[in-house]
Amino acid sequence: MGTSSDESESADASSQPDLETSVFEYRDLDDIREEIQETYLADDRPWVIGYSGGKDSTTTLQLIWYAIDDLQESKQDKPIYVISSDTLVETPKIVNHITSTLDNINEYAEDEDLPFEAHKVYPDVSDSFFVNLIGRGYPAPNQTFRWCTERLKIDPADNFIMDKVSEHGEVVVILGARKAESATREQVMNLHSIEGSNLSRHSKFANAFVFTPIEDWTVDDVWDYLLQVDCPWGKDNRDLAALYQEADDECPMVIDTSTPSCGNSRFGCWTCTVVQEDKAMENMVDAGDDWLEPLLQFRDLLKSTQDPNDKPKYREVKGRRHGYVREKDNGSDGIIPRAYKLEFRKHLLRKLLETEKEVNDRRGDDEGYLQLIRDEELKEIRRIWREEEADWEDSVPQIYHDVKDDDLDWVQNDLGSFSAEEAAVLEEVCAEHDIPPKLMKRLLDIELRHHGMKRRASIYNKIDKVFRENWRSIEEITANIEGEEPERWEYDLEYEDLQQ
Ligand code: SF4
Repeated sequence: MGTSSDESESADASSQPDLETSVFEYRDLDDIREEIQETYLADDRPWVIGYSGGKDSTTTLQLIWYAIDDLQESKQDKPIYVISSDTLVETPKIVNHITSTLDNINEYAEDEDLPFEAHKVYPDVSDSFFVNLIGRGYPAPNQTFRWCTERLKIDPADNFIMDKVSEHGEVVVILGARKAESATREQVMNLHSIEGSNLSRHSKFANAFVFTPIEDWTVDDVWDYLLQVDCPWGKDNRDLAALYQEADDECPMVIDTSTPSCGNSRFGCWTCTVVQEDKAMENMVDAGDDWLEPLLQFRDLLKSTQDPNDKPKYREVKGRRHGYVREKDNGSDGIIPRAYKLEFRKHLLRKLLETEKEVNDRRGDDEGYLQLIRDEELKEIRRIWREEEADWEDSVPQIYHDVKDDDLDWVQNDLGSFSAEEAAVLEEVCAEHDIPPKLMKRLLDIELRHHGMKRRASIYNKIDKVFRENWRSIEEITANIEGEEPERWEYDLEYEDLQQ
């Protein structure tokens, strides 16, 4: 590291250095600092730096900090927002590292009168991991159905960027992305570059630009820099290196879906099932953090639901949106598994609350209480179950009370819904008449919600939608797939009657 500017000038600027060549063979830190300063001063677009707590974004932020600090005070006039996405299921040790770093950044920036301002960004309650997994029954994410990244990371960062765009007109987003990370990454970075500019186009927003000051750095360059240049906001980069000791990857700040999965690292979510095993968390448990063990067990429970042989046990056969059943179209027999069954979601909620209890028992009071699921998420799950799953038993408050021996300030019967007693009666009646109880519950819920309304036109569409769902039993559906047409329900006739 630290070749002279003469050496860098002698390098052939037209030749493309290979991705494994150290950046310091043809540039030095002064040169990089000047490039950052020149880019900062080139316009009045504010900067938004994506900070993940990992080595690449720390390097980027540190380079920028020194470059801006080196400018005359009168020129440090553009705000620099440092944003970090907290998925609310971050590995607890990493959350602490990120939170204390952001606090330090704000404190040091204020003391030194620098234009940095650090913020955490969070997913909306209805987009959170547990509201989707337990509330809506989205199956634990995997490589082909990685629904989490967009909801937990990309959208919150995008919202922040769009806020700043509406405030300032345009922004520059700074990322610690490196071409050497992956071929896809390199391709995407080259695709959006703007000739003759240090900036490239943002892949989604016309009013946002991207600056990637360490795009040509190798992983060794990053570590050489971090271990030789002190952190300017009072942290020790050796602590960061220690976090990496047993994990060789990080979860970068994600702005698009080409960013690699962050599952196999200390910087991903503790619930991540995109990878086979969570080696990083296993290593932390082995190293003595045994309070993390219940988290690992919960993650392993989620992972086990991905075993193809066990999917029928956990998953519905009807789609959530339209209630249709679809056969696999890959030539193999069988039905496409859909959302987790409500009974299994209830089990997951109970397990999660028990996990929270056990983790906190093991941690002890000094460490502070670790909340795995927030009250707003529990309330949103309750709403979804009651509105979409006809959960007349109102299971969320019950499960919460069973595990915690306590209650939240639940709104009582806000939907004017039916109760567990009525559910029991209905179950009996439906059993006598061989009708799916859930069908009757859904119809009665629709009626209840339209009760007293003057215009009832929309009720027919809703009833129609419910009838269009597949209400056959799994045996009937399977028989149908094998070629035997099951008896038809007589709902169509009843529905025609309703419409007249
Ligand atoms: S770490 Fe895993 S669970 Fe979290 S957003 Fe990334 S892929 Fe999804």
